[in-house]
Amino acid sequence: MPNSTPKTMGQQFGRRSWAEPWKIKMVEPLNVISREEREKALIEAGFNTFLLRSEDVYIDLLTDSGTGAMSDRQWAGMMMGDEAYAGSRNFYHLESAVQNIYGYKHIVPTHQGRGAEHLISQAVIKKGQIVPGNMYFTTTRLHQELAGGTFYDVIIDEAHDPANMHPFKGNIDLDKVQALIDKHGAGNIAYISVAGTVNMAGGQPVSMANIKALRALCDKHGIKIYLDATRMMENAYFIQDREEGYANKSIAEILKEFCSYTDAAWMSAKKDNLVNIGGWLAVNDWTLFEELRNLVVVYEGLHTYGGLAGRDLEALAIGIEESVKDEHIRSRIGQVLYLGELLTNWNIPIVQPVGGHAIFLDAKAFYPHLKQIEFPAQTLAAELYLDSGIRSMERGIASAGRDPKTGDHYYPKLELTRLTIPRRVYTQAHMDVVAESVKAVYDARESTRGLKMVYEPKYLRFFQARFERL
Ligand SMILES: *Cc1c(COP(=O)(O)O)cnc(C)c1O
Repeated sequence: MPNSTPKTMGQQFGRRSWAEPWKIKMVEPLNVISREEREKALIEAGFNTFLLRSEDVYIDLLTDSGTGAMSDRQWAGMMMGDEAYAGSRNFYHLESAVQNIYGYKHIVPTHQGRGAEHLISQAVIKKGQIVPGNMYFTTTRLHQELAGGTFYDVIIDEAHDPANMHPFKGNIDLDKVQALIDKHGAGNIAYISVAGTVNMAGGQPVSMANIKALRALCDKHGIKIYLDATRMMENAYFIQDREEGYANKSIAEILKEFCSYTDAAWMSAKKDNLVNIGGWLAVNDWTLFEELRNLVVVYEGLHTYGGLAGRDLEALAIGIEESVKDEHIRSRIGQVLYLGELLTNWNIPIVQPVGGHAIFLDAKAFYPHLKQIEFPAQTLAAELYLDSGIRSMERGIASAGRDPKTGDHYYPKLELTRLTIPRRVYTQAHMDVVAESVKAVYDARESTRGLKMVYEPKYLRFFQARFERL
């Protein structure tokens, strides 16, 4: 095994190892079933890792969404839940945490990220408008489409090349935005949908220079910028690590500056904010806030709980405060980089540079003999599970879905299998086991057959689609 110091850590600390800024107080035993049992479980799940039972999984890297470990302070906060229907004190704690740390004025809690996406899409997108964004995200684009909008990808071209080492592959291509303004007119653009980091591009960050330049362009045309802040803490880390002038700024300072160039944000708190459930919307404009605060009572719950219990709001408020600490984010991303370095040293094709929350295996490069319609990334996820019981997620043609106008599959350039690292859950030894399993599957790649889809749900098909071996 290579040394445990990820490269970007090395710049800060020399070749000294880093370690998690916490110790373990409670453990949850893991279950390992035999290869024969995994084969059976996989067939029952239609070769879709979303349909496996968690009990049949050894190391669960399906997602980092809601799978993190809470701190003792958060658990203590759960006992301080004020379960009043209206005006719970935990709401006010959450409100001030978002105001202080992200810097927006008005807060609406929601049950999770897509609840927030639903409300903001319904509130601001007019039928026929377009929504430019730095690469689509599944639930985000769907809510934009359901509200009558059309999503246009305006991420820089480098983002579509898994080997390109651009340090900010999440950046928005301002020429692409300008071209859309010229073609459709600024009035037909609902807002610019900016995500930091960009999940579907491999957890790639947006630079401060880029968001500043986008702000200047949008100000010229009176266009709003809305931020998907789900992984903005991780984005802030990459700015600190890679962007000129930010090395001595704290994550908190960087985050606040970035958010200051945007008009509103939505959040899946199940990611950066270290809770198992929760989300929020934050806006600066009072009129928009009134509209959202009104809509939330229709779909989520009263505007001071938004579908969450008081205890959830409290755990979330504390989670926000913990997640912005430099030592937390450094060890969080350090673990991802560690796994990335192991795989890179073995020449296993992954999206470079390694992003904030996950390793993305390049399934097209893994299985050059498979056509995209034979679901290479889905195949790779199935093979990994068979090898070791590790659960990963397809982020390729199955996730991309179909064009609502033509009914054809979208054929995304990136065909990836995502190993997503939950926050504060697994140790470095688990990362070693994961790397070795990926290597075993890679070594057996030439004899691997693809899949065909035998059941396809209408919405977000990747969650429930079923496959069979070709
Ligand atoms: C997870 C996620 C969402 C959706 O949030 P949920 O809490 O899963 O509903 C939106 N945007 C991004 C970037 C995400 O990663």
